[in-house]
Amino acid sequence: MNSEINDKLRLLPSIDALLIAAFSCGELSKYSAKLLTAVLREVVAKARQDIQNGENISISKEDFLNKARCRLDKIINLNLHRVINATGVVLHTNLGRAPLSKRARQAVRGIISNYSSLEYNIADGQRGSRHAHVADAFRQLTGAEDALVVNNNAAAILLIMSSLAKEKEVIVSRGELVEIGGSFRIPDVLKESGAHLVEVGTTNRTHLSDYEKAITPRTAAILKVHTSNYRIIGFTNCPPIDQLAKLAREHNLPLVEDLGSGTLIPLEFGDEPTVKGRLESGVDVVAFSGDKLLGSAQAGIILGLAKYIAPLKTHPLARAVRIDKLSLAALEGTLKDYQLGYPLLDVPVLHMLHQSKDELHDKARGLTAALMPLEKEGWGIEIIPVHSMPGGGSFPAVALESFGVAVISPLESAASLEKKLRNRCLPIITRIEDNKIVIDVRCLFNSDIEEIAKAFFELAHH
Ligand SMILES: *Cc1c(COP(=O)(O)O)cnc(C)c1O
Repeated sequence: MNSEINDKLRLLPSIDALLIAAFSCGELSKYSAKLLTAVLREVVAKARQDIQNGENISISKEDFLNKARCRLDKIINLNLHRVINATGVVLHTNLGRAPLSKRARQAVRGIISNYSSLEYNIADGQRGSRHAHVADAFRQLTGAEDALVVNNNAAAILLIMSSLAKEKEVIVSRGELVEIGGSFRIPDVLKESGAHLVEVGTTNRTHLSDYEKAITPRTAAILKVHTSNYRIIGFTNCPPIDQLAKLAREHNLPLVEDLGSGTLIPLEFGDEPTVKGRLESGVDVVAFSGDKLLGSAQAGIILGLAKYIAPLKTHPLARAVRIDKLSLAALEGTLKDYQLGYPLLDVPVLHMLHQSKDELHDKARGLTAALMPLEKEGWGIEIIPVHSMPGGGSFPAVALESFGVAVISPLESAASLEKKLRNRCLPIITRIEDNKIVIDVRCLFNSDIEEIAKAFFELAHH
């Protein structure tokens, strides 16, 4: 090792000296001595390594303290935090799917720092059931006899099949053996549950007689799966749901349906069946997500005939997939939005999906107005028509008309801007089209407009 390197190593400040310096600096003195020591050791060890590798690095105390500050910021700042969704994808699974409504947030806030009636029946002063809190609301909103809520829809399907069909046969159309992404595949979930999959029909056509011929004494259920994320078009067939329900009833079999998104109200676009409609058509048990079109917290909602839901409640898996109290509180709050009658206004994802073109255009105008000062500096800012996706693996055939604000910098590429917008403390997730940043306004809240303008001014002036 050459002597220059040795000299430099010898000059490295001691941990004690750095600690004293750290404690005399107001900002760092808020951390415990233990944490500061650990972090300072790390940065000094890294410096020692760099010097040995022949790198020319600063060894001033101030620089070490700055490096420690960076590391401490990473520890103190939350990794899971808010982002601004400028992609236009309403149910963006990677961005946390559904933002919660005001009532849902209030419900969560109401129990989050206190004890709650989670599994306590106040009237009787006895142990209660966590499922009871939302069962009446679901009965009222869908006509279901009973309800059970679990961790997510994938868990709901696993629980239903484990409970109703373990070591027995489940009949599924070949056109519905879907993969939902994130490795949820119907055949794999059935295998995990111990149920034996009996495929019937073909990819594009399955007839009632196909189901009928597949029924044996070993059959435990017929499973329908909503092809949420793709459509088969052209020469297709699947039997009407009421006929399939009749067939199941004649053989005393439960007809189970994985509805995927599951909407409680009819939507103004697409052809999504309502949960109530499916139950009225004779489906015995439906399962769907809490954080897709319902617009609440992550949950798997199971509704239907009490005789099929009762065994699910006591199944050993039920405990493993049970819903958390925060999600349950959010769900109850969201269901009140529906019960009170204004879900299109009160539930954010439903509101975002049903915005009128005028509303969207007004939002785009608000954003362009806020960005306008940049035009003088050579930035290009214009409103463009775009299509936004509902997302969440729903409505593959639907693209909603929306407006975007396209921004182009006089100095920087769109790729570089996109990266900087994404790497802010409050990230803004955008997309690039024609070498321009496109901000789809569909999923923006009013307060986001100001923040986006602030971000562009920062980018322009630093
Ligand atoms: C989304 C989806 C699932 C998975 O639901 P999670 O709540 O994300 O677990 C299962 N089946 C279908 C048809 C879906 O669309």
